[in-house]
Amino acid sequence: RAKLRQRGGHLYFSRSMGVDIRERVRLMHALRAAVGRQDLFVVYQPQIDLDSRRPVGAEALLRWKIADGGFVPPDRFIPIAEYSGLIIEIGARVLREACTQLVRLHRSGHAGFTMSVNVSQVQFRDPHFLDMLRAVLAETGAPPHCLELEITESIAMEEPDALIELLNQIKSTGVSIAIDDFGTGFSSLSHLQRLRADRLKIDRSFVTEISASTRGSSIAEMVVQLGRNLGMSIVAEGVEDEHQAQILRELGCPLAQGYLFARPMAIDQLMSWLSSPR
Ligand code: C2E
Ligand code: MG
Ligand code: MG
Ligand code: MG
Repeated sequence: RAKLRQRGGHLYFSRSMGVDIRERVRLMHALRAAVGRQDLFVVYQPQIDLDSRRPVGAEALLRWKIADGGFVPPDRFIPIAEYSGLIIEIGARVLREACTQLVRLHRSGHAGFTMSVNVSQVQFRDPHFLDMLRAVLAETGAPPHCLELEITESIAMEEPDALIELLNQIKSTGVSIAIDDFGTGFSSLSHLQRLRADRLKIDRSFVTEISASTRGSSIAEMVVQLGRNLGMSIVAEGVEDEHQAQILRELGCPLAQGYLFARPMAIDQLMSWLSSPR
């Protein structure tokens, strides 16, 4: 990461940061142009019930396709969308698209299917967020109890009182809340309890660890226990092999997503994946 250096009272950018900033500005302009075109689109990764091995929902994930046929990874462009403020418009589009597809899924025989949508901290700070959410629910007709918003653990730690108030208002619409990448931040347990989130998502790093570690001492196990004690549902992220799926099930983790089951895919692919026998 490029560093901001201070000399003689003046802040200046190191040469490496100058390059980085030009690159980021370039990406920001490209991203602005991509909004509203087909270059930004949503893919869906199934979430699986570990007992029945049936898909019960999906997480919506944003993709940005660029001219040369490649993709810019979300971990690279989401931060740019955040600091440019573009995430407010982009995030609303993702939510509308995910809700539209949720209704389509329900109508094609997948009643009760759930949809999880990632929401950035910047969106949460937007005073119009709640109105936007209500408008999208009304316009699309998506049933709120089948929609979940994912917030990262690090967001969850900021501005506790304002956040708790917003989460309560969101929950009063019927929409549920999941804490994403759980275990990577520094939540205080009392704060976690006050958030009254519905679900914890065990971060992929702790799922990866399962292969190597012996049972009884894993962070994944602690997260499952914590979720249970707080009456929260649990989803494990990034399950890549059968061993991890077995252990998670034995630990009492009810749901999982990961390459073992399915990669994120376009909505039409998801539709046919859901109706093909496994
Ligand atoms: P996330 O919400 O934690 O999403 C899970 C990430 O893990 C996704 O990466 C998914 O493709 C990846 N993944 C799923 N299963 C596996 C697996 O078995 N192995 C491995 N190695 N990876 C797996 P992706 O799609 O690149 O997204 C990265 C992050 O970007 C997301 O992490 C989320 O924080 C953010 N993001 C994506 N879409 C959106 C969006 O619409 N809005 C916002 N605010 N953030 C988004
Ligand atoms: Mg997520
Ligand atoms: Mg995650
Ligand atoms: Mg993540």
